Amino acid sequence: MGISILEISHRSKQFEAILAQAEADVRALAGVPANYRVLFLQGGASLQFSMVPMNVLPSGATADYIDTGSWADKALKEARKVGRVNVAGSTKTDNYARIPSASELKLTPGAAYVHMTSNNTIEGTEWKDLPPESAIGDVPLVSDTSSDMFSRPIEVARHALIYAGAQKNLGPAGVTVVIIRDDMLARSTAVTASLPTMLSYAVHAEHGSLYNTPPVFSVYAMGLVMKWLLAQGGLPAVAAVNERKATKLYAEIDRTGFYRGTANAADRSLMNVTFRLPTEDLEKLFVKESAAAGFDGLQGHRAVGGMRASIYNAFPEGGVDALVSFMSDFERRRG
Ligand code: PMP
Repeated sequence: MGISILEISHRSKQFEAILAQAEADVRALAGVPANYRVLFLQGGASLQFSMVPMNVLPSGATADYIDTGSWADKALKEARKVGRVNVAGSTKTDNYARIPSASELKLTPGAAYVHMTSNNTIEGTEWKDLPPESAIGDVPLVSDTSSDMFSRPIEVARHALIYAGAQKNLGPAGVTVVIIRDDMLARSTAVTASLPTMLSYAVHAEHGSLYNTPPVFSVYAMGLVMKWLLAQGGLPAVAAVNERKATKLYAEIDRTGFYRGTANAADRSLMNVTFRLPTEDLEKLFVKESAAAGFDGLQGHRAVGGMRASIYNAFPEGGVDALVSFMSDFERRRG
């Protein structure tokens, strides 16, 4: 057209085509069944912490939350401001170093939904499998997948609602993807009259994510990322690369005992690899020397300390190889 995506109207044919294509590619990539809507919203995953209970936790009902990390904890604290919450399982006393087993979950019969966090970004753990159907029965499963959406296959049909801020694996910050099943949308419709308009899933669904001006550039860039993921062979192919990357890094961590992985081995995240060194002084030195060698962002989250290598989809395997050689060199010199 001779003008950019930032200049055209979000109601133009051109932008509508971009939005429709992004949605079609999300559907193809994740195998989203027809009875789910894909919404492109704003406000980040943090706004979903509030929108989920505002829309799908009816008054008087209970929502179960599985507390597996700092973000899961934030989600449940927000939900408590809206309605009744039962913490159905928590690994807080283990520093969130592991995912609870199905037998540890204390679920509420007939709960409005059960909320989980598929990948715990700060602590470096992930659910390898969804909580078994035998444990949650027909209670709708809601998942915050902000830090692993589209890094591996996802069983959409086992969820009632899935959300993720785009900025890890999907595209630039500014767009939040919500995949919502029709029955959850019906709950939203039932309470929409009492909700702020912008916080209603039903409103956004009715307007095809165009109730107001969407984050056009983020949607456009996300659409390109969806094409990139499809071109790689889709989520199984992407997952194979991610497994290879993470396996190399964990192998280096486990090689001698100089480095110590902080997550329970069976629950280790493919996205966020968390580890410690023998002393905090060595950790400071590691951060300094790795930065000088061209590695950025290896310091762990301020809440937990230690190191964290975040190796999202876009992080190249060559970068992992370079980090592994830096780590073994650092150990040789300082260990
Ligand atoms: N949930 C998880 C699992 C996250 O990793 C993050 C961000 N790191 C959030 C929620 C919050 O996301 P946002 O910044 O998009 O609100």
